Amino acid sequence: MNIKTFEMKSKKGITIKVSNLGCAIISLWVPDKDGKPRDIVHGLDNAEDYDNAHPYFGVVCGRVANRIGYSRFMLDGVEYKVEANDGPHHLHGGVNAFDKKVWTVEEATDDKIVFSYVSPDGENGYPGKLTAYVTYKLNDDTLRIEYRAETDTKTVCNLTNHSYFNLDGHDSPTVHDHIMQICSDKITAVDENLIPTGELSDITGTPFDFRTPKSIGQDIKSTGDGYDHNYVLDNPGVAAIVSSQKSGISMTVKTNSPGIQLYTANFLDGSVVGKGVSYKKQSAFCLETQLYPDCVNKPEFPTPIVTAQKPQEFFTEFVFLVK
Ligand code: BGC
Repeated sequence: MNIKTFEMKSKKGITIKVSNLGCAIISLWVPDKDGKPRDIVHGLDNAEDYDNAHPYFGVVCGRVANRIGYSRFMLDGVEYKVEANDGPHHLHGGVNAFDKKVWTVEEATDDKIVFSYVSPDGENGYPGKLTAYVTYKLNDDTLRIEYRAETDTKTVCNLTNHSYFNLDGHDSPTVHDHIMQICSDKITAVDENLIPTGELSDITGTPFDFRTPKSIGQDIKSTGDGYDHNYVLDNPGVAAIVSSQKSGISMTVKTNSPGIQLYTANFLDGSVVGKGVSYKKQSAFCLETQLYPDCVNKPEFPTPIVTAQKPQEFFTEFVFLVK
């Protein structure tokens, strides 16, 4: 494996370390209110470790991120079966998916890295050859991720980055005190296996309502294990704002993706150790910009279909400010 790591540093003192294995964001140092850099993402010790099983720390998930119910879908009257790696369901592209690939480095400059990966026809059960591009750009206070998917044959695609953030530092035990705002009034309702029912449910007055900023911990107990839900985004623009009083760091998420998954690291149990830390339940939050879960089986959801004539493009920006 030809694994390489790259570091970029911005004028505002943000430093990011990424690798071509899974396009992993290994570390992201952001200066806190005292000017001290804090590494705010969970990660593993070495770039090589990302080849082992881990809960998608910082990687790009694909070909179709999130869940595909019963690991099957139809495209133009043909049924495609993808690997079941989440009970009977398919999660984050399967077992040996985009997060486990060594991506080609197309370009690497002081403020921009472009990775590409060619997924052959039939890989992980998906039809058509797909070429994915992921660009990381670091500019002053902003990390911008651009996703592009091209194909020669009609197929489906949904790419996201799965970073686990803790704005007090990855070694901080919980994100319950973080203040979160999500600019959405609907989530995609799910069944007990987190597969969407197809319904968009109004979250007014429920624990899922983050329109008025509140702490992540305020209502988390009433969700069961924690948040693991896709929010419907009406307008391209600001999707979420999260901040920590302790570090003074705030993160604004902007995107043109129609959805964003809030996942509060519910399944971390201390067994995964990285960068000297044993990562515990709810020690981080993920905000995964995406098409909706199971979109391949829900024609009423924004489409994951990519054709030779219609490549797919999305962006996500993480803007860091210190209060
Ligand atoms: C999913 C969780 C899953 C996690 C894996 C998230 O995107 O929504 O259900 O357990 O990824 O790390």
